[in-house]
Amino acid sequence: MNDKSRVFAPRILEGRTALVTGGGSGIGLGIAGCLGAAGARVAIASRSMERLESAAETLRGAGIDTLPLEANVREPDSIRNAVLATADGFGSVDILVNNAAGNFYAPSESLSPNGWRAVVETDLYGTFFSSQAVFPLMRDAGYGRIVSISMTLHYRGWPQMAHACAAKAGIDALTRTLALEWAEHGITVNAVAPGPIPTEGVRKAFTPPNDEAPDLFAVERATEEFARRAIPLGRMGDPEDIGNMVTYLVSPAADWVTGAIFVVDGGGSLKGA
Ligand code: NAP
Repeated sequence: MNDKSRVFAPRILEGRTALVTGGGSGIGLGIAGCLGAAGARVAIASRSMERLESAAETLRGAGIDTLPLEANVREPDSIRNAVLATADGFGSVDILVNNAAGNFYAPSESLSPNGWRAVVETDLYGTFFSSQAVFPLMRDAGYGRIVSISMTLHYRGWPQMAHACAAKAGIDALTRTLALEWAEHGITVNAVAPGPIPTEGVRKAFTPPNDEAPDLFAVERATEEFARRAIPLGRMGDPEDIGNMVTYLVSPAADWVTGAIFVVDGGGSLKGA
């Protein structure tokens, strides 16, 4: 967590509970930190309890009321249990952030059915199952904020990432459709599309398997120079850059915003970065 997680007034989310999938690492942890700094109680859910416990310790150290929950977003019952545990522990689920995802490079001709399923099920099915799981609580409360983390690579296509591009394009479509279906219940549904953020998870996943695959994080290895050239605002992103957009979207400032997808990438996608 860095100082950017404290740009919003500390109480704008007071009394709200957020569930962040994949909240134990990288961007998800940054989002959880920003929401918590704005006053929300935060449940973080993913498969590795060890990772979640360590993240929870960091968040609690920053004074954030945190609940780590083991859950697999690919399994509807598993994420439903996490939603119920959040409601049991904190009294409600007002905010859902669909952040959990998986990704790796693979040429489409040799991408295995299991590899395809793993990414599409985690990113797209996981977003749908999690949104469906929080819906009854949000409907009954007459209030809900859902934000899904998408990406920008599918705007043009990205070689060797057909699974992730297809899944994230599906998330964009789902965002608009759920926004229309659930607006009458006081639920807004938006998405954030980050540019390159050198998280530990993504560094591993994006290690190119062969010479033909574009090396997204060569930018980082080739230092700031690439970022200065390829990203108009001159740097790679931080998890808190995404966390602050999510905080805006779930705050009262965005009460009239739904079905929107916000690109947060320093302008990189405009230059094809
Ligand atoms: P990350 O650190 O690898 O985060 C992925 C998280 O998802 C992990 O905490 C992981 O925890 C969790 N997860 C994976 N499979 C899961 C499952 N089946 N059920 C529950 N949780 C699961 O990567 P990141 O860079 O922070 O990415 C976060 C989000 O930002 C993703 O949606 C990604 O597509 C998006 N994004 C990232 C970038 C970037 O450059 N970093 C750019 C565009 C979009 P466990 O292993 O404990 O389950």
